Amino acid sequence: MSRKADVIIVGQGLAGTTLAWQLLNAELEVVVLDREEETTSSRIAAGLMTPITGKRFAKSWLWDLFWPEACDFYRELESRTQTRFFDECPMLRLFSCEEEHQAFERKFPDISTLVTTTDPGIPSHFSTTEHGGFEMQGGRLRVADYLDCSRRYFMSRNSYLRESISFEQDINIFADRVELPRLGLSARSVVFCQGFQSELPRCFEPVRFNPAKGEILRVQLDHECERRILHRGIWLAPDDELFARVGATYEWKDLSSVPTAAAKDWLTSKLDQVLQVGYKVIDQRAAVRPTMHDFRPVVGLHPEYQQIGMFNGLGSKGSLMAPRLARFFTENLLHGTPILPEVSLSRWFK
Ligand SMILES: Cc1cc2nc3c(=O)[nH]c(=O)nc-3n(C[C@H](O)[C@H](O)[C@H](O)COP(=O)(O)OP(=O)(O)OC[C@H]3O[C@@H](n4cnc5c(N)ncnc54)[C@H](O)[C@@H]3O)c2cc1C
Repeated sequence: MSRKADVIIVGQGLAGTTLAWQLLNAELEVVVLDREEETTSSRIAAGLMTPITGKRFAKSWLWDLFWPEACDFYRELESRTQTRFFDECPMLRLFSCEEEHQAFERKFPDISTLVTTTDPGIPSHFSTTEHGGFEMQGGRLRVADYLDCSRRYFMSRNSYLRESISFEQDINIFADRVELPRLGLSARSVVFCQGFQSELPRCFEPVRFNPAKGEILRVQLDHECERRILHRGIWLAPDDELFARVGATYEWKDLSSVPTAAAKDWLTSKLDQVLQVGYKVIDQRAAVRPTMHDFRPVVGLHPEYQQIGMFNGLGSKGSLMAPRLARFFTENLLHGTPILPEVSLSRWFK
């Protein structure tokens, strides 16, 4: 083989990119391969990191573990690549009815450290202000910008190739290495970071996905956007003065990346309940989130074939979780440090 690496990564979405950075930080030799699909989950994601979510005001799973690491990781990369793609930003959660407000009051003692104020000052162009709301501090990753600048960096180190990989045809597994003869590559391990897609290597058969299609809109408002990210059944995330993204739907049957009229109707009907100003829809996009049956990510080497691994299942919280999970993987590869059981690939093989 003409080129030897420590790790080959298949897929340069949020998972593959973040793993590549953590491996490079540990001074490993990495080659990233991606087939450059135009519409992927990472490329359309809003990249929101929200500490308190849902009707029950649940604290995001392992927030205290994931959030500080995500902030440090993205900030460090911003300075290394001289590119802006991450913001810590205030988020405004509005209550849709009095029962929801009461549910928040009951939950408040458990989540108070994540609430920045319960008197958040609600702008007049939001129509649903009568039940109040609260503000929390979250984050936003501009995922496509993060992927693009990472790709440029990997290319500059000769660590990136545009390639579509077939496990059956391209990859040979040996006791101590993998080889990709077509590309003249060999490595100690290959890690699959392919997101949602139907052709997984057969040895990963026990791993069960429950993928969820999601759609988002880009809208132009008649009024300057509120700078905070709004949550009220849907989210409204400002891009710049008049433009914002609105999302997101969840759909488990149609797993295409084709935008639908039904999703547009659902999102605009929710937006109409929130906004008092006019807007027009200027774009609509759809992709499939890689979500697992147990809603937990998948990280680690195959229990039987230690030369192949998987980093996937980031679901709707990829931006938040990817940096710490990728470090779990890296430390496991380097030192055999155990991976958190709830996210370990090996849980699917018991
Ligand atoms: C509408 C929507 C909104 C979302 N909003 C948020 C949000 O606000 N916050 C958040 O954290 N997450 C959000 N997500 C989820 C988040 O986007 C995912 O968790 C994350 O993008 C998954 O990344 P991934 O790298 O696993 O997969 P992908 O993004 O699918 O990347 C996989 C990559 O692998 C490549 N690939 C696949 N097969 C091959 C092959 N055989 N050979 C070579 N390359 C291959 C693909 O081209 C792709 O680049 C959202 C998702 C959707 C759909």
